[in-house]
Amino acid sequence: MTAPYFIVDAHEDLAFNALVLGRDPRRAVVETRAQEPPKGVDGIATVGLPDFLAGNVRIVFATIYVSPHTNPNPANKTYQTAEQAQTLAQEQLAFYALLASDPRVSLITNRADLKRVIESPKPQVGLVILMEGADPIVKPQDIDKWREGGVRLVGPAWSQTRYSGGTGKPGPLTNLGKQLMREMSRAKMILDISHMAEESFWQALELFDGTVVASHSNVRKFVPTDRQLSDEMIRALVKRDGVIGAVFYNQFLRHQWRQNGADKQAVSFATVIEHMKYICDLAGNTRHCGIGTDFDGGFGMEATPREIDTVSDLQKFGGALADAGFADADIRGIMGGNWLRVLDRALPT
Ligand SMILES: [Zn+2]
Repeated sequence: MTAPYFIVDAHEDLAFNALVLGRDPRRAVVETRAQEPPKGVDGIATVGLPDFLAGNVRIVFATIYVSPHTNPNPANKTYQTAEQAQTLAQEQLAFYALLASDPRVSLITNRADLKRVIESPKPQVGLVILMEGADPIVKPQDIDKWREGGVRLVGPAWSQTRYSGGTGKPGPLTNLGKQLMREMSRAKMILDISHMAEESFWQALELFDGTVVASHSNVRKFVPTDRQLSDEMIRALVKRDGVIGAVFYNQFLRHQWRQNGADKQAVSFATVIEHMKYICDLAGNTRHCGIGTDFDGGFGMEATPREIDTVSDLQKFGGALADAGFADADIRGIMGGNWLRVLDRALPT
């Protein structure tokens, strides 16, 4: 038997789901499902620690995501002011510290942590903390405080924020946003451009000189909305040696999937691979594709490709890549190695 793939998933809203939806990520998916109504609390649960370990999902970019009051999501905690956003985000950061007290979990804040998680004889799940939407950063200079708290990636946008145009709300970086790019460069944060409006994206690439990634974005050619990446954006990310995490959300994989009946069976791993192949063709290699499922990020199992029941089924995605003709080394890169390359370069010593 060959060794299982070492999987990195670059986007999961674990803290939001715990603190807002009451989902404990330490539970197995089967337990969470048993405690929720048949359709789940925000879709059918996909994620739990035992399932990460069963599928050898060994590193997760765990988000700090707070919900603006304009968000139609039924979440019960939203913010109006930056200070309120900061408070909610600090609660999520504290939740990750608590989660890391579980022997199956550890926080990754530097290269030594990364090495320890990779080499750990007893498999663990390493969490890299990613702030999705920068509103909790009250002022750009606060970046150091968040960095000290363990945040390693920041995505300035979700929808529009005080910093950046975002999904469904096009526009440039604000003056604060420009300052944030400079502060993030200085602090050596990783910039996550997922959700950034195109105009903001191009400005950010000018102003920010560090590592750039798209934690969870698909190809706009196939799903033509501003949430996905244009060819020019993909090329720019490749040029910066970034990685793009494929979102395993059917609405982001197949154009108008929901409007066309939301059939889980209509989307498969082959659909994800189409997106990945497209990026590989633009790049001329496989080094810029990764996984960024966004599992349980406002949708559930019912809206993921047909091969997915829980997060552990990601392990089977490697076989699908092999069937599609990818070489073993390239598959290991896509499953996790490409993200490891970025982390190894961007994390502090
Ligand atoms: Zn998102």
